[in-house]
Amino acid sequence: MTLRLVVIAVVPAMGLAMFASDETIGRRQAADVAQAIEDESASVRTLVSLRFALAKEQIPATALTFGRSYGLSFQELEQILLAADPDTATGLGEALWDEFRSAQATTDQLLLELGDDPRFAELEGLVAELHVAVSDAPLNDFDGDLIVLYRKVLGPLDALINELFTETRDQFDSSLDTNELRAALNQMLAAHRAGRAFAELLPYYYSALVPELSEELGQGRNQLAEGRAVYEYLVSGFDQTLTGRTAAVWAQMQSSDRARAFDEAAQSAINGKSIDLTTDLAQVTAVTQSGLITLEDHGRLLEAATADVGEAALDTRIQALESFTDAMVLLMVVLAFSLAVVYYVGRSISRPMQKLSAYAERLSAGDVHASFPKGSRGPTEVETLGLAFADVVANLRAIDAHSLALASGKFDDPILNEPLPGRLGRSLQASVQALTQSINDREELHRRLAHESTHDGLTGLPNRSAATFALESSLSRAHRRGTGLAALFVDLDEFKRINDTNGQAVGDEVLRETARRLAELARAEDTVARLGSDEFLVIAEGIESIHQAVNLAERIRDRIAEPFRYAGQTIVSSASVGISLTLDAHSSGDELIREADLAVHRAKGFGQSRVEIFDGAMREQVDTRAQIEADLVQALKHHWLTVHLQPVTNSETLRIEGFEALVRWKDRQGNFIPPDVFIPVAESSNLILELDRYVIRKATAELASWPVELFGELHVAINVSGRHLLDRSVVRDVAEAMNESGLDPSRLILEITETVLLSDMPVACGHLEELRAMGVTIALDDFGSGYTSLATLRYLPVDILKIDRSIVNELQPDRGQSLVRLIIEAAHEFGMTVIAEGVETDMQRELLCALGCEQIQGWLVSPAVPPKQARELVAPVAG
Ligand code: C2E
Ligand code: CA
Ligand code: CA
Repeated sequence: MTLRLVVIAVVPAMGLAMFASDETIGRRQAADVAQAIEDESASVRTLVSLRFALAKEQIPATALTFGRSYGLSFQELEQILLAADPDTATGLGEALWDEFRSAQATTDQLLLELGDDPRFAELEGLVAELHVAVSDAPLNDFDGDLIVLYRKVLGPLDALINELFTETRDQFDSSLDTNELRAALNQMLAAHRAGRAFAELLPYYYSALVPELSEELGQGRNQLAEGRAVYEYLVSGFDQTLTGRTAAVWAQMQSSDRARAFDEAAQSAINGKSIDLTTDLAQVTAVTQSGLITLEDHGRLLEAATADVGEAALDTRIQALESFTDAMVLLMVVLAFSLAVVYYVGRSISRPMQKLSAYAERLSAGDVHASFPKGSRGPTEVETLGLAFADVVANLRAIDAHSLALASGKFDDPILNEPLPGRLGRSLQASVQALTQSINDREELHRRLAHESTHDGLTGLPNRSAATFALESSLSRAHRRGTGLAALFVDLDEFKRINDTNGQAVGDEVLRETARRLAELARAEDTVARLGSDEFLVIAEGIESIHQAVNLAERIRDRIAEPFRYAGQTIVSSASVGISLTLDAHSSGDELIREADLAVHRAKGFGQSRVEIFDGAMREQVDTRAQIEADLVQALKHHWLTVHLQPVTNSETLRIEGFEALVRWKDRQGNFIPPDVFIPVAESSNLILELDRYVIRKATAELASWPVELFGELHVAINVSGRHLLDRSVVRDVAEAMNESGLDPSRLILEITETVLLSDMPVACGHLEELRAMGVTIALDDFGSGYTSLATLRYLPVDILKIDRSIVNELQPDRGQSLVRLIIEAAHEFGMTVIAEGVETDMQRELLCALGCEQIQGWLVSPAVPPKQARELVAPVAG
């Protein structure tokens, strides 16, 4: 209790502390921001200085260009300058060279200061390029191009300065007093702009004097006039706006009359006064010198401005740090205060509160007669009292909820398991539990009785009436899903005899064992029921063909025929199975049971352990199939199957590039049996593995026997059935055929269908990867006839895509093209080549060719033909 009080007392103090720590965090952040601004403004400063140094490099270059435009080499220019006025000219000649070199050194130094910040990498590259162009050349190689070269660097540099400046300004946080820094930055930018404008004036001046230069430098006089106006505008407010060191330097510049000499010369050049270099050289020299000196002054102005920025940035940071310290002190004070409050609360309030809380506790335990303790007053006590009453009310509500659940008969309502507080609650809950138990017991009894009336006591299976009911609901489910349904009537053979000779106990056990075995063979959604003494019914859902139903019936028959041990003896029984099947779920349940019953009677007529089908046509179907299977076994054994070859050609040239092997079967009467008839039969058992092996052997041996000199390295594509691909033997079978025939694996293509890939992706893909590792190529057959989406193609280990005949068939000049285009594009996207199957007309070939399909196969070229004929198709003479 005391702990709770202390917590209550601490909360406001905590709030205060939180406020103070919030404040410190804010200040800390402000200090970080100030640091960032300082760093950033240092970069701006460096960039601005760099800009100035580059401008200074440019001036001597321009002066020398000016001389060159008169056809003078640097040495000659220097001589003329010397001769005209030794005092100044010597200085100028030297100065140009020195200026240039020292400005370059400054530039390099500033680049170093920028460090390896990625934002400046491009700029650094540009300057380096410029310096390579300039430094390696002797001065007399300078020409007009140089000015263009400088402009290429200065342009991006100006853009960068602007960008960085705005960025820096955007970082300003409202929590900081940054006015001073902001003003200093603006001032630096103003000084930078003025210096930049002034640096332009000298080149303009030369180009105004020498019209020939104008071609490179633009419009001579006009530019000088414009440039001067810009400069005047930029410095017009400097007397009033500049502050600090910058203001001082500016005042100095204004008091000296160095700038004036250049200004006057510029004015007269603008007015069109031309100069004869030989006579007025002294004047040009003087103007150049005064220009350079003024430029130097601008350099000092910029330096002062950048120093002002540095100082302001530092000030901002110091200020932020100071206020952070203040906040920390405040935090400490608040914490100390909070601790004092906690102490006070603990001492003076907790004792009366404890009394009050004891009262509240008794109240909430349901002791309504507890008397209110004396001597506890104050707002906090009232609060606690309120809490206690809330507890009491909550308890009453819980009791109310329990009674409500009881009254409405919801005995399984989870609320009834929730404990009720107090004596009252406990006794109420005990009676509720007793009541619920007795009601549940009665319900369980009901359920058992209901089960017994629908279930067979001996086997626990549903009885006849429950089976009819189950069959009806299975039928409506099958109808809804559009699937088939089979009723299998299982009747034990000679059960009466077992009962008579072995005794009823054994008979009972046979029935129980049969029930267990049926349940074990049925799938979850199937129903197994006991119809009468020795009759059982299996309702199998999702049956798609009579063969599937027969398969299940045969497994049931075989399983029941297996002997088992009981009470020290071995017991053998057997059963016959009658099948009735509906594929469209239109029959009634009674009808199905009756038909299955009739079928099982037929079975018994033929002997024991038999499977019979009710429907005559279906029976025939199954018989034919069994016949085909038996014949096929013979055909394989005696090598009556042959392999024909269908050419696969280039879609454009129609050149044969390979063949698909297709199996052919003529029975002993000479009737041709189509693969579509016997392949599905073979696929329903392991017979297909044998058939596939046979075709692989034959086809690879055939192709390997064709001399490569005559036929080239033709491919042979062989169909691998799904069951075979999923079987472990597939890799070994292929490897053996390759070994025996000696055919290079790169010439073998295996065709697989998408259904097998999707039925067991991991196993199929595993085998395909192994085959590919051997060098065999994989083709996806019949693409477009199934459900593979184009997107899944990406994940299949397949090299070739074969577009199904049905899709090629739809191809017309005005329709069907977009689907084919999509398929081809997707295949190419995933690195597959495309073969179109069933191409019968030249129109189809042309369209496919235009859509990018590499190869075609179909009657347009040739159907599958015997190997001898196939050889003739490739090499008519040799064949
Ligand atoms: P498939 O692999 O799609 O074989 C192509 C089928 O289309 C062949 O039928 C072929 O004769 C036929 N065809 C070829 N060009 C044209 C055409 O221009 N128009 C038309 N309408 N049909 C054309 P076939 O030989 O009856 O084979 C049917 C299916 O049987 C094959 O389809 C394949 O899935 C399977 N099959 C054939 N031989 C074998 C084999 O040796 N092993 C396995 N596992 N399956 C095979
Ligand atoms: Ca094929
Ligand atoms: Ca095909």
